Amino acid sequence: RFDKQTIFVTGGAGFIGSAVIRHLLADTNASVVNIDKLTYAGSLSTLPGAPGNPRYAFEKQCICDGPGLRRLFEKYQPDAVMHLAAESHVDRSIDGPAEFIKTNIVGTFTLLQECLRHWRGLSADKRDRFRLLHVSTDEVFGSLGAEGLFTETTPYAPNSPYSASKASSDHLVRAWRETYELPTVVTNCSNNYGPYQFPEKLIPHMIVRGLAEQSLPVYGDGKQIRDWLYVEDHASALTLVLERGRAGETYNIGGSNERTNLHVVERICDVLDRLVPGTRGPRRNLISFVADRPGHDRRYAIDATKISRELGWRAREDFESGIEKTIHWFCQNRSWWQEIIDHGYDGSRVGLN
Ligand code: NAD
Repeated sequence: RFDKQTIFVTGGAGFIGSAVIRHLLADTNASVVNIDKLTYAGSLSTLPGAPGNPRYAFEKQCICDGPGLRRLFEKYQPDAVMHLAAESHVDRSIDGPAEFIKTNIVGTFTLLQECLRHWRGLSADKRDRFRLLHVSTDEVFGSLGAEGLFTETTPYAPNSPYSASKASSDHLVRAWRETYELPTVVTNCSNNYGPYQFPEKLIPHMIVRGLAEQSLPVYGDGKQIRDWLYVEDHASALTLVLERGRAGETYNIGGSNERTNLHVVERICDVLDRLVPGTRGPRRNLISFVADRPGHDRRYAIDATKISRELGWRAREDFESGIEKTIHWFCQNRSWWQEIIDHGYDGSRVGLN
């Protein structure tokens, strides 16, 4: 797969980008260039095996810097771009939306312009095969009631600065396809979890606090529903879409694993109690309910029929086994997240992505 091809991965030092790079290096012959600014959320420690691999290169680069990106396109002449670089945390977007507008909108615009310039300079056969895969979220669709699922034709209705910035970037990608014919593909995926997730997001946040037997703050009544996908399933879906997805299409990605936030936290408590018995009784007693997040979407759920029918993809990991694996990973890799906490991340934010 991807023989003699060079793939740019923006945001490759983040949670999902690093899973994509690990997958590309392990399961394909692609050469990978990781383009990442290394914000607070990015770390090369998510890619412990990559630096020695001759098919891997890292470039510290902000996607808002056009000349910098142009230099990389000229240097590596990529066959495809997987665009994951973004500001990704909803709570941070409420406190400080400016960075979200910059990276998610201006950064995507800048990348589109440099992709277009590069694509126009390619030979005809390379131009046909080139793809820009833009990785987005189901949060662009807004909130669902008790019934129904997000499909590829669900109207956009973003409610947070984060989802609005991602929706804007999706529209830009669509316009570059329609106006300039750049071969783009967009994916909209549900909430991810798994190894190397930054500890401000719901699942690692609760694992890390649960291990320390600290209070476990849950927004509102905890009945918000998210559709959880194990990150390696997302990485395999993205690789498949890059390989076989049709230019100009969008694909929804999800694992049909709807769970309430409260269920997720209770499950983490129960697994931790079994793996690392606490000193103060069952961890469920640590759960406390705090004021809800403004504009908090009630329910997200994905209809992944299109990617399954067209490309034959489906999630391998169900939530109960995936969460168990994830908790094991966080227990066995304490030094990875302890270093983040020691370097100034205070862990006091309620991370309910
Ligand atoms: P993350 O926050 O863990 O990683 C983002 C990465 O982007 C970091 O390595 C960061 O250093 C880098 N980055 C940020 N700004 C940059 C800039 N200006 N230039 C270059 N690099 C920059 O995020 P994630 O959870 O891995 O999400 C990756 C992508 O997937 C995002 O586009 C996000 O919107 C999307 N997504 C995430 C989820 C989820 O549940 N986490 C679900 C669906 C879609």
